[in-house]
Amino acid sequence: MAKPKIDVDCCTGCGVCIDACPVEALELVDDISKLTQPDNCTGCGACVDACPLECIVLG
Ligand code: SF4
Ligand code: SF4
Repeated sequence: MAKPKIDVDCCTGCGVCIDACPVEALELVDDISKLTQPDNCTGCGACVDACPLECIVLG
C-alpha cells in the first residue's frame, strides 16, 4: 500500500496534514511532518490533498 512521502525541504511544519489524517499517523518532528505511525496509515491520501504546498506524494 502506498504511504505518504513528505518532502522535508518543502514542508513548513504548518500541521495541516496532521489535522487532516483520520488515523493520527502523522506528527511534527523537529517542525517537519513525519509518518510516525506507518502501521496506522491506510494510504487514503487525505494528507496529500490537504498540504497547501503539495509537499506530500503517495509512493
Ligand atoms: S495517507 Fe491518509 S492515513 Fe496515511 S498519513 Fe495520509 S491522511 Fe493519514
Ligand atoms: S501540510 Fe504540508 S507544509 Fe504543512 S506540515 Fe504537512 S507536509 Fe508540511
